[in-house]
Amino acid sequence: SEKRKEFLNKMLEGVLKGERSWLSQAITLVESSVRDHRIQAQNLISQALERHNAKKHIRRGAFRIGLSGPPGAGKSTFIEAFGSLLTDKGYKLAVLAVDPSSTRTGGSILGDKTRMEKLTNNPNAYIRPSPSRCTLGGVARNTTEAIALCEVAGYDIIIVETVGVGQSETTVADMVDLFCLLMPPAAGDELQGIKRGIVEIAQVVLVNKADGDLVPAATRSTAEIRGALKILRPQSHNWKPKVQMLSSLTNTGLDKAWDIMVRFRSKMLETGEWNQRRRQQNQVHMWSYVQANTMELLHADPGVRQILRDLEGRVMRGEVPAGSAADQIVDKFLESRIGESVA
Ligand code: GDP
Repeated sequence: SEKRKEFLNKMLEGVLKGERSWLSQAITLVESSVRDHRIQAQNLISQALERHNAKKHIRRGAFRIGLSGPPGAGKSTFIEAFGSLLTDKGYKLAVLAVDPSSTRTGGSILGDKTRMEKLTNNPNAYIRPSPSRCTLGGVARNTTEAIALCEVAGYDIIIVETVGVGQSETTVADMVDLFCLLMPPAAGDELQGIKRGIVEIAQVVLVNKADGDLVPAATRSTAEIRGALKILRPQSHNWKPKVQMLSSLTNTGLDKAWDIMVRFRSKMLETGEWNQRRRQQNQVHMWSYVQANTMELLHADPGVRQILRDLEGRVMRGEVPAGSAADQIVDKFLESRIGESVA
């Protein structure tokens, strides 16, 4: 309707001006499960990107930083302190949370808005808690689009926070320029478990809580992680992963952490790896959306649903080869789709 159109236009202008309330509403639109809303959101992002790209010569792109770490590592304390440091330097900061745990358990590990009170009240920061529903795939898509919206809204730095439990790290690593791991000063054994999975994909590892009684443990962890990283093959021949000890409580080492991130960005821009990585990410995202959308349509198709249950059972019992069943499912899908478009 006309009214809706007017509202969406207002939203577009609001987002481009960097107004937080409009940005919030736009991200909500992106996260909506209503098909019309999603289409409107796509239009909004496309238009916003076009307008934004026209001004690219005066605006640098945002720096997207993934931050992961086990519960209790101090992620929110770190972001609160680090975020203030960044806004003090004159940057506009957006923080997005990816918390797939909330899908399964109904509870959220990353918790709610109250975690970062100072930043929440900082006019140069925008904090977006994680959406409560959705699969990891859905969250990934929403987050990629939320990143795009923050970028066109003029945010210079976008931190995507996730809990260090399982698959969400790789998902986040695929949408950011720099993936950063925040660790508590852990004992050797604990470290082993965390190290294997995530340290491998991090370009920067931060050892938090290096204050008071915890300084010796943090120092030891730092040395251990450095050692572990030495024997891993770095992902990029332009960058060896760095380890930095810090305290989010006493605000020490945060400046050094930022220096490392800036060095990383310069190195990546200089070598062309920055753009190359983003191009690859865009391509991967496109195909994963195609995959997700297709599967969604397929499962919603009445014809497919009709044959699926029986067919699946027969495949499981070994009566029908999996490949042949797959062909039948796709054929059925195409059949009803074509029927639909003719009718
Ligand atoms: P998250 O679950 O990773 O977001 O962790 P939180 O930020 O909620 O922090 C977990 C606990 O660690 C809290 O009690 C914090 O006060 C504490 N903490 C966070 N950063 C530091 C730090 O640098 N030093 C010390 N000593 N404690 C910290």
